[in-house]
Amino acid sequence: MAQDIFYDSDADLSLLDGKTVAILGYGSQGHAHALNLKDSGVDVVVGLRPDSSSRAKAEEAGLEVLDIADAASRGDAVMILLPDEKQAEVWETDIADGIAPGNLLLFAHGFSIHFEQIAPPAGVDVGMVAPKGPGHLVRRQYEEGNGVPCLMAVHQDASGDAHGLVLAYASGIGGGRAAVIETTFKDECETDLFGEQAVLCGGASELVRAGFETLVEAGYDPRLAYFECLHELKLIADLMYEKGIQGMRYSISNTAEYGDMTRGKRVIGEESRAAMKEILGEIQSGEFAREWIGENRAGGENLARMREEGKNHKVEKVGKDLRDMMPWVDQEF
Ligand code: NAD
Ligand code: MG
Ligand code: MG
Repeated sequence: MAQDIFYDSDADLSLLDGKTVAILGYGSQGHAHALNLKDSGVDVVVGLRPDSSSRAKAEEAGLEVLDIADAASRGDAVMILLPDEKQAEVWETDIADGIAPGNLLLFAHGFSIHFEQIAPPAGVDVGMVAPKGPGHLVRRQYEEGNGVPCLMAVHQDASGDAHGLVLAYASGIGGGRAAVIETTFKDECETDLFGEQAVLCGGASELVRAGFETLVEAGYDPRLAYFECLHELKLIADLMYEKGIQGMRYSISNTAEYGDMTRGKRVIGEESRAAMKEILGEIQSGEFAREWIGENRAGGENLARMREEGKNHKVEKVGKDLRDMMPWVDQEF
């Protein structure tokens, strides 16, 4: 098998010498990529909307800020760190004209390319560097001398140097200090969507709500239900993150461990596994992407309604009151 995992020792940051990297967007990922690359000695410009509230922040951090179209045309490498659902529109209005043959177009998620929302011209290298963590962690780990592992992929190699350039970028944001794993736009995109829908976000949110509602409907104090079904999830997630599932089981009580192993499969049983397969199928067929793109084209009404409904769930009201008594809980960033 060809090498598919890389470190700083495999990367040649000098491939970016004399090149300008344009970072479009200064949100979670944008600020981290721009600042880490700058600190790695790369020539960076940031592209933002004229009215963006991030302008002042980026300038204060010593970065040169241009309008999106100017940054896209200035950059030899252009990293698109805008929300996935906005990328196609901004590509048409502000980015495409600035992308010339020989440039490198970069993404941090495979959605726009894999679902053909953006069709880059021939003659351009197209790659991905996707850190496996939120931007604040990407920045903080870099400042502390560490790095967050990244996925990388090459979708189009027009120059013959795309692999080296993408790896250099990943190294510049600190990824090579941990590991840079090579994959494809398709696999990154499909696994990322599946993880967030079935396990991390969709699965976990509904698991918490279902447990909370079961206790409250049975007449238990909602505050106890909140602690047992939501608050303590972090403690368990932290143990899994640090030591895996068996390490978590080692740390909990024997009673909890026995209950875990004898009851868990009844909660996530055949029905849940079948739903997971169905959800994966909708991702692979493009059905989810079509739905999400359609939702945005129609103005995002369903998203707004579901957000409103979510805010009114009892677990939020109880949680707010309890978190106010634990001010240390939400002070991490
Ligand atoms: P974000 O929402 O934090 O930031 C988006 C930036 O784009 C902001 O600066 C915002 O002002 C700007 N913006 C929004 N709409 C715009 C528009 N219409 N025109 C111009 N600028 C606009 O986004 P993010 O979470 O940093 O995500 C960026 C990319 O990184 C996405 O492709 C995402 O999938 C990927 N990614 C995110 C994470 C994460 O944990 N946040 C992790 C890995 C990859
Ligand atoms: Mg995602
Ligand atoms: Mg308990």
